[in-house]
Amino acid sequence: MSYDSNNIFARILRQEIPCKKIHENNFGLAFHDINPKAPIHALVIPRGAYTSSLDFHEKASTEEITGFYRFVSDVVRLLDLPEKGYRLLSNHGTAAGQEVPHYHVHIFGGKPLGPMLKES
Ligand code: AMP
Repeated sequence: MSYDSNNIFARILRQEIPCKKIHENNFGLAFHDINPKAPIHALVIPRGAYTSSLDFHEKASTEEITGFYRFVSDVVRLLDLPEKGYRLLSNHGTAAGQEVPHYHVHIFGGKPLGPMLKES
């Protein structure tokens, strides 16, 4: 999958459209999901142009990877989640239901989160 520079998160990074920002640094931007699935539902995105976790893990520099995941943990602390518990999730591709083709990590918290996957 090639990177679409007009995807919605690329446009948020370029400040062409607004977001409810939680935190940012040189490696990433965190903001509240527009359609939250839990009382706390944050999205964390790297600044670089990566389509998904696979793309990021294979192509990003060691500095970007370390910086990004440390930033994810900074956001978890800002949201006061370490003691309460939280879930990180990232979708890749159609079967997982990825909607936005810019790598992002979901952070869920604020209530008991139930089973990891919906029972079928
Ligand atoms: P995914 O299905 O993993 O690609 O998740 C994409 C997420 O982005 C969904 O939870 C959407 O609700 C969220 N989303 C889409 N557009 C926006 C936006 N403009 N601001 C914040 N969250 C968004």
